[in-house]
Amino acid sequence: MLRRAGLSLGQFLWRRKSSAEFSCSFGKAKMSRPVQAQKLEGLDKNVWVEFVKLAATYPTVNLGQGFPDFSPPDFVKEAFVKAVSGENAMLHQYTRVFGHPALVTILARFFGKLLGQDIDSLTNVMVTVGAYEALFCCFQALVDSGDEVIIIEPYFDCYEPMVKMAGGTPVFIPLRPKTPAPGKLMSSGDWQLDPAELASKFTRRTKAIVLNSPNNPLGKVFSKKEMELIADLCVKHDVLCFSDEVYEWLVYDGKKHIRIASLPGMWDRTITIGSAGKTFSATGWKVGWTFGPDHLLKHLRTVHQNCVYHCPTAAQEAVAQGFQREFERYGKPESYFVQLPQELQQKRDRLVQSLLAVGMKPIIPEGTYFLIADLSDFKAEVPDLPDCEEPYDSRFIKWMIKNKGLAAIPVSAFYSTAQKRNFDHLIRFCFVKEEATLKAAEDILQQWKLKKTGP
Ligand code: PMP
Repeated sequence: MLRRAGLSLGQFLWRRKSSAEFSCSFGKAKMSRPVQAQKLEGLDKNVWVEFVKLAATYPTVNLGQGFPDFSPPDFVKEAFVKAVSGENAMLHQYTRVFGHPALVTILARFFGKLLGQDIDSLTNVMVTVGAYEALFCCFQALVDSGDEVIIIEPYFDCYEPMVKMAGGTPVFIPLRPKTPAPGKLMSSGDWQLDPAELASKFTRRTKAIVLNSPNNPLGKVFSKKEMELIADLCVKHDVLCFSDEVYEWLVYDGKKHIRIASLPGMWDRTITIGSAGKTFSATGWKVGWTFGPDHLLKHLRTVHQNCVYHCPTAAQEAVAQGFQREFERYGKPESYFVQLPQELQQKRDRLVQSLLAVGMKPIIPEGTYFLIADLSDFKAEVPDLPDCEEPYDSRFIKWMIKNKGLAAIPVSAFYSTAQKRNFDHLIRFCFVKEEATLKAAEDILQQWKLKKTGP
């Protein structure tokens, strides 16, 4: 047939390839129906995709995305190795759909003890692919079109698109910064909710509030009083609480992490979300969990069984072993949950000093491994363009990556469209990094200072 058409095999293949390419692009141009589901409208931008790519393109010291650049502790790594190289062949296969038995058992014991609440491993706990999937299940399972969900700003960016994808409407309330006492640096604790403003956001349509304490990106650890304010409103208006507690162990200066599910009337209306990524410094393992009452969790199970279905078995086994170890050492000096925040507090303080030296005003975080700095004094280096659509912090970081070799994340990405411009003088640094990385960042900031001020 080829010979009949007067073509060699090479020519035939080339023609076939180019006609395939042609029909591909032709097909695209010809597609007349809209392909994108309407619920995705306006949700395609993602700060992590954009800035992670940029940080990888240039030689940078990366204090941007939130992940440790050091290893998880040996006891969980060894547990993982044992899970994949040991005798138990079943650890390579599917496990229980709503969570590996060893993991849900220890999570129920561990958090049951902390909350003073009976937690049933089979009905009150569900394992997810990271805290991301846990959040996704909450919104998909419990938010309907027409429902409002209150989100406290600044917020972990995915809450807003997840509410919208579920058909709900996000209702924002900002934490408002107070001026710190004279001679004191601003702390994340200076950022507070206005009680009257918060109360005004609860309406007949409010289905849930998202609480993230310790908060990413600010590092705020909500006090008992603030939690009680939120809890009272939830009870009064019969509203659910999705409590994202992925940084629960990372609190500093003797602060205490309060679990809102432990407050009166809250267990029955709260879903608590956790992450082994943050708990054991293993973000790539993507093991997360939720716990809460069965009458809520059963709907999350419906979402989970129809999307992810099942999470990686060996990683769950390793996390279960990690929790077992921590259960036995709870509150003791040898506990990882005691040691990690001690180490991180030192890293935080070191970064604070480096930022102060260059003239960026840090907001001291009470928790998490993030630190926000104020850039207001840097407008001479990177002039503001009031008419530019891109927020100032985003432009500043792109400049900083390219010209200084230092990556961070713009804080405007953690705000709703209406508020972005009011908070685009702030950038977020991540300090859960090796000494060498922090030293390299310190050197960059030192050079920068010398250039600005002279030796
Ligand atoms: N919630 C918050 C507040 C986070 O900062 C993150 C990760 N940066 C997540 C949820 C998602 O956690 P995971 O990696 O376990 O999916």
